[in-house]
Amino acid sequence: MWIVSPSRDHGWVISFGCKPTGRLRRLKVDTDPSSDTSPIDVPCVCGEVHRVTVSPYRRRRSADEAFDLEVTSLDELR
Ligand SMILES: [Zn+2]
Repeated sequence: MWIVSPSRDHGWVISFGCKPTGRLRRLKVDTDPSSDTSPIDVPCVCGEVHRVTVSPYRRRRSADEAFDLEVTSLDELR
């Protein structure tokens, strides 16, 4: 079993609702998204683009947490 150091950076997770499928999806972002909390347009795995509000839902990602999409910076979605 791996012992993961808390200082290791696994990025951030922003959860968002996917209305067409009724599921909660996870977007992984490598850089801290707190610098800009304006909405993002996420190209979801369901094929639609969802407008997502950033600030209330961001949190640290744990090492083995799955995600549906990944970006380096939220600026890619604005
Ligand atoms: Zn969706």
